[in-house]
Amino acid sequence: MSCLFPTYARWEVPVERAKGTYIYDTSGKAYLDFTSGIAVCNLGHCPDEVKKAIQHQLEKVWHVSNLFQIPLQEQVAQLLVHHSVGDAVFFANSGAEANEAAIKLARKYTGNHKIITFYQSFHGRTYATLSATGQKKVQEGFGPLAPTFVHLPYNNVSAIESLQDDDIAAIMVEVVQGEGGVVPGEQAFLNAIADKCRELNALLIIDEVQTGIGRTGKKFAYEHVGIEPDIITLAKGLGSGFPVGAMIGKKHLIETFHAGSHGSTFGGNPLAMAAALATIKVIFDESFLQDVTQKGDYFIRQLADSLHDVPFVREIRGVGLMIGIECSGEVQPLITALREKGLLVLSAGPNVLRLLPPLTVSVEEIDMALDIISTTLIAS
Ligand code: PLP
Repeated sequence: MSCLFPTYARWEVPVERAKGTYIYDTSGKAYLDFTSGIAVCNLGHCPDEVKKAIQHQLEKVWHVSNLFQIPLQEQVAQLLVHHSVGDAVFFANSGAEANEAAIKLARKYTGNHKIITFYQSFHGRTYATLSATGQKKVQEGFGPLAPTFVHLPYNNVSAIESLQDDDIAAIMVEVVQGEGGVVPGEQAFLNAIADKCRELNALLIIDEVQTGIGRTGKKFAYEHVGIEPDIITLAKGLGSGFPVGAMIGKKHLIETFHAGSHGSTFGGNPLAMAAALATIKVIFDESFLQDVTQKGDYFIRQLADSLHDVPFVREIRGVGLMIGIECSGEVQPLITALREKGLLVLSAGPNVLRLLPPLTVSVEEIDMALDIISTTLIAS
């Protein structure tokens, strides 16, 4: 009997090792991994650059507390600031923690209380981020939730325009809802949010935990839509599989997070920083990102071509290498069938197949996945 809490519906894949786009099980069977540890292994499994950086750091120092200067934190922060609209970084260990920091900062800075988020959003599983999340199934049984989180319909401009309240600290939004079904935010909706934040003196928090670090073909997904967040949150892809989260904020917010106001024992750990530095040095490169865009466009085009006659498929959508195939029924049986044929994919809600290959995936690997997906869905 397992000694673990059964919080995860685990797959029958006894993982032995992984490299690049492949996971190998203990019998030697190879799986094309189009889950990337849920948008984490953006450089594929065990990327050499990151491995070397962690190994190098392992020989120097693993952990000192944040009472010390940690030069690697400064280096990662400088790169994140240089490549974003932000001016300062707080390091955490996960997406939920990065969002917690954002929520706390927004409340303290504005003196207001309400945080507006959206139905089907996902922001984490701590009490504040669980309360921010717009999915009942994630919240069930955990009430009472933290007060003053208000949920509005996603992609609904009039819900934003009619918002009138002088107690709003922030609007927090994913540019592409990930767990909620790979749903891109419409330009008019995101513009309305940015305008409303300015009108109400509320902060705009963009949750880039899933969309950030090159996943959509830009360093950050907000770049696609030309809006300027006050706060950006990151995790997943930032450390290539080493746990790390980050909150990037604009200049006017810096003084609010003064010494003693917020903290984390492990946040910005030197090993995590070595992994993050090596990761973003590769990904924050225009030609790398262009390649992601081209492969994503190719993948979506080919999927549309090969699946257009399949009645079970409703819509294919996505940005960069964050792709959803919305179906007319439950996708779990398909996920199992694909896995048996050697392709690992995810769901996003009950009816959407979610494809998150490593950003380093080759066109040949995309073609192999296309073949497995089309034969399986055509037979469904
Ligand atoms: N925000 C978004 C958009 C996410 O997709 C997730 C995780 O899936 C989180 C926050 C929570 O991140 P973590 O699981 O690292 O706490």
